[in-house]
Amino acid sequence: MHPFTIVVHGGAGTILKEDMTPALEKAYREGLQQALDIAYAVLEEGGSAVNAVKAAIVVLEDNVLFNAGKGSVFTKKGVQEMDAAIMEGTGLEAGAVAGVRSVRNPIELATEVMQNSNHVFLSGKGANDFAIKQGVKLEPDEYFFSQFRYDQWKAIRDSDNYSLDHTNHQLDELLRDKKFGTVGAVACDQQGHLAAATSTGGMTNKKYGRIGDSPMIGAGTYANNQTCAISCTGHGEMFIRSVAAYDVSCLMAYKNLSLEAAMQEVVHQKLVAMEGEGGMIGVDAQGIPAMVFNSAGMYRGVRSSKGLNEVAIYKSE
Ligand code: ASP
Repeated sequence: MHPFTIVVHGGAGTILKEDMTPALEKAYREGLQQALDIAYAVLEEGGSAVNAVKAAIVVLEDNVLFNAGKGSVFTKKGVQEMDAAIMEGTGLEAGAVAGVRSVRNPIELATEVMQNSNHVFLSGKGANDFAIKQGVKLEPDEYFFSQFRYDQWKAIRDSDNYSLDHTNHQLDELLRDKKFGTVGAVACDQQGHLAAATSTGGMTNKKYGRIGDSPMIGAGTYANNQTCAISCTGHGEMFIRSVAAYDVSCLMAYKNLSLEAAMQEVVHQKLVAMEGEGGMIGVDAQGIPAMVFNSAGMYRGVRSSKGLNEVAIYKSE
């Protein structure tokens, strides 16, 4: 049997232990563990990497602590507009959606795009029409409301500022001790097939239909059985400009770097050089995981058939 592995993240940024209560920290760790366990069960039963990453993301989207699905951040207009992508590394099939509203699990919609449309990337109203056609579950606005996200947005809505869920350089003091969390998952299944998925509400107070790296194939999400599966989190603009996820794959393919070395180069050299704060999770075709970030912390976890089973938040864990 090929070794199998699931890795998840719940966002990276200014995550400091002194800003956390024990109860909140416990809730985050439980949320990550739950996503790992559900995806691990899929892989253990011989399920595909695609089904495993999708299952992990659904759990995290349904958890109000994370900035994806329920609990997504507010846009400038005071609504939630969500982005998601999924990719499988065997046939390089991919599906993505951006700026969707009311969709309970944007990752389900991205999967529908991948498996049941001739397209890769749908946006806005068209993506919502496709959701209705495919029977993807919708929810009323109240479902997505969370008091914390509302307060976070209220603090900056009259300004031109927008903020990462977890870090805002202008309003650092105000926002940094709060909840964070774009979510992502990568997996290697018993066939040695890879998949990656990412889902997010994007940045608080975003406007003009801003889209980050999360749903962009090659930037925030990428999978290729020849190299790796990657899901990113952080300041999306820099991840787009550095084509971060695909760059890791390229460094492995063209320079023969290991997954860990390739991720170190992208996160600690290339992204740092352009002040791109954040991190990424990855798994290679041998099922070896890696989790690398240049921020104070990253919600993350890994579980594998080789006995790894851990979740972590801060740098020194
Ligand atoms: N990368 C996401 C975005 O820019 C945000 C995040 O990872 O928290 O939309």
